[in-house]
Formats: sequence, C-alpha cells, structure tokens
Amino acid sequence: MNFYVLTLFPEMIEAGTGTSITGRAMKNGIISMEAINIRDYACNKHKHVDDYPYGGGAGMVMQAEPICLACDDIRKRTGKKPRVVYMTPQGKTFNQKIAKDLAKEEDLILLCGHYEGIDERVIDMEVTDCISIGDYVLTGGELAAMVVMDAVSRMVPGVLTNDDSGMDESFENDLLEYPQYTRPEVYRDMKVPDILLSGHHANIERWRREQSILRTAENRPDLLRKAVGSFDKKDRKFMRENGLGDFLEE
Ligand code: SAM
Repeated sequence: MNFYVLTLFPEMIEAGTGTSITGRAMKNGIISMEAINIRDYACNKHKHVDDYPYGGGAGMVMQAEPICLACDDIRKRTGKKPRVVYMTPQGKTFNQKIAKDLAKEEDLILLCGHYEGIDERVIDMEVTDCISIGDYVLTGGELAAMVVMDAVSRMVPGVLTNDDSGMDESFENDLLEYPQYTRPEVYRDMKVPDILLSGHHANIERWRREQSILRTAENRPDLLRKAVGSFDKKDRKFMRENGLGDFLEE
C-alpha cells in the first residue's frame, strides 16, 4: 500500500514514520510513504500557499490551487485515482472499522491542513473522505495523518507477523483487550493472576474473555452495548452474575 501525504511539513511526517512494525513493513516493501510538500506546488514566487478568509475573521486559509495541483501530479505519476482523505476535526471519528476499510486501498492520499484549514472547494472537488482523530483541535493534520497511517498499516496483509498478530486486539468484536502480564511473576508484591500460570488453555481463554467484558463495561459501555449481540450463554451468565445484566436487557 502506498501513502501520499500532502503537507506543509514533510519533515514532521518523515521523522514520525519508519520505525517499529511499520518501519519494517516499509523496508520489506509492503507499504511505502511519500511526504509531499504542498508548497512545491505554489504558483507565486514567494511560495505562499495561504490567504485571508473571505468574509473576514481570524487566521489564514490554505488555498485550493497548490493542493489540487499536488493531487493532479500524484494521479499523473501513478496513473491511478486514489481516495483523498482530508484530516479534519469536522470529519467522521476514526476507528478500527475505518482503518480496515482504508487498508483495502492500494494507494491513499492523506491531506493535512494547517492554519484555519483549507478552501472548501478542495473538499468539494478532491476529497473523498473526511476523518477526525478525536473531538479536539490540533494545530495541523500531520499528527492525525500519522495516527491514521499507523492504524491502517497494521491492517494491511503481511504487516503484522504471527509474533505481533492483531487477532485479539481491542475493538475486535467490540471488546477491549484483556490485561497482559510478563515476567517477573511477582513485581513489588503484585502477583500475576494464578490462572495465567495454570497452563490450562481453555480456562485462560475464558478468563481473558471475562476480563475483556469487565474492562469494556468499565471503560467503554458504548462498545459493550454493541458487543452483547454476539454473546453466547456463558457470556450472558457472566454478565448477570457481575451486575451487568442491564446491558442484556437494553
Ligand atoms: N478551523 C478548523 C475548524 O474549526 O474545524 C480547525 C483547523 S486546525 C487548527 C488546522 C488543521 O489541523 C486542520 O485543517 C486539520 O487538517 C488538522 N486537524 C485539527 N484537528 C484535527 C483532528 N481532530 N483530526 C484530524 N485533523 C485535525
């Protein structure tokens, strides 16, 4: 999968990618990333890419022309028409489902805004998806693009190996992951739960499932409400015994 990141700060994107699992996937050629400076497509000698907002108000707005030219260039070079994802607090909130959907694409353009954002006509003409990484306002779209690239890359076949498989991870089946422990067995008087040392795989699996349910109830009741639809008899009994019966009745 190829990411093309349109940004005014390519060095920020380059510095923030290329390590750990995604770095390995880049080295192996499973994913690639090109940070493209929107300023390179400025049509004036001062390389200005922003201007005052029509109608007045604070701040500057990124102009349409350099962004559209940069998109044209990618389409021309690749001979393809990739989806264009604009990182914006006004977009749909990013989640694992969107990450999986985007991971099916062969090419993806991620557009990072700055200042007050971009000229609305770019959104009308070029943008296929608007994505927010949460209900807060960042200075620019670069951090958001890096978040999206990381989460999407993990979903590209071949990026995760058996050693770092994402099968049990949070948000699979709308549950958060169970607690994890590693050596030593006792740390500052806190012992790893006995069940994890028992070697009894079925019981460990059951315990993990129940811990996932408890953790999701505590931290993300909204997710648990969705998850209960696929719960079996054992899960439902566990819910009732642990004061979570109301979720089943809703
Ligand atoms: N004036 C805009 C508004 O109120 O919606 C906010 C502009 S923000 C200061 C500048 C840029 O940061 C945006 O164009 C966008 O690319 C990026 N950005 C800010 N918050 C974001 C978020 N929560 N998710 C994704 N991108 C964000």
